[in-house]
Amino acid sequence: MISDKSLTIAVDFDGTIVENAYPGIGETKIFAFETLKRLENEGHRLILWTYRHGKRLQAAVDFCKENGLEFYAVNMSYPEEEFDPQLSRKINADIFIDDRNVGGFLGWGEIYHELTNVKPEIPKTSKKKKGIFSFFK
Ligand SMILES: [Mg+2]
Repeated sequence: MISDKSLTIAVDFDGTIVENAYPGIGETKIFAFETLKRLENEGHRLILWTYRHGKRLQAAVDFCKENGLEFYAVNMSYPEEEFDPQLSRKINADIFIDDRNVGGFLGWGEIYHELTNVKPEIPKTSKKKKGIFSFFK
């Protein structure tokens, strides 16, 4: 779908890159960083687009950095953007990846496939816990 065009992709953090454990940081969702780094290597711009701010935002940015991911911009359309209350707060992105999508979160394997037309090899995890709510995941 996007291989020949560089896109700006806005990515949510809680519930999208990691399991939602706000204000803490949940476990990384399977294949999240692999997918995001691959998209970045293919020339796409990644923006972290999250409700977090202040030190909780910094914790998320640091967590991603520790996992080898640095964003083009954080909660803004481009790195030098200054907040102007006269302008819309909606950032300028071609694609938004968010767990609050209509229809729910696709999963990173599906997102990668959707964006690159390549089906990724996703390592199977054996330690997945089966809980009473696992049906809903
Ligand atoms: Mg979320």
